[in-house]
Amino acid sequence: MRLFIFIIFLLGSFSCGIKHAQVFKNEVSNETQKGFVFDTSYTARKFRNPVGNPPGKGYYDAQSFMRNTHLGEDWNGNGGGNSDLGDTVYACADGYVKFAEDIRGGWGNVVRVLHQLPAGSRYKQVESLYAHFDTVLVSAGTYVKMGTPIGTIGTAHGIYPAHLHFEMRHNVLLDIGGGYSSDTTGYLNPKKFISGFNSSSIY
Ligand SMILES: [Zn+2]
Repeated sequence: MRLFIFIIFLLGSFSCGIKHAQVFKNEVSNETQKGFVFDTSYTARKFRNPVGNPPGKGYYDAQSFMRNTHLGEDWNGNGGGNSDLGDTVYACADGYVKFAEDIRGGWGNVVRVLHQLPAGSRYKQVESLYAHFDTVLVSAGTYVKMGTPIGTIGTAHGIYPAHLHFEMRHNVLLDIGGGYSSDTTGYLNPKKFISGFNSSSIY
């Protein structure tokens, strides 16, 4: 009997997880496909590294895109350990905050920003995703400029040494995902995208 109850509990929590993901996906679809008009004064024309001022200064990428099937980059302060705890994270480009929530687990505080690209670009929109924040400084449904402080570097409630997990995606409707996968469909190499976009208007 106890085992039976345990199995029911497992099934219940699993389906809750799936439902939550679908609700989130639908919310994003509504924004991007049904009546959501992006404010074009926030079209992204340039991207920057999300840490350091000047961008990137004082930080290193401890786990690059696709190292150990990592779907993002792990930005750490040059001082190592928790020396970067509480440091400011900046929006990598002009855009619209579509999600800013603490989802706990391996993610902690997550901010997702939609970036509308200029006409003629390879993608209509891309997304930047920032995770493990100590504090979140923006709310969903607001616009940001490149360099707007959006949060501070954190540990996802103490489960990692402080760092910023940073992803870029060209499929802006993807679920949060797992952070690691050998399937990179819909994902971008952040450093490669940022330098490519900044040096070529058609990227
Ligand atoms: Zn990471």
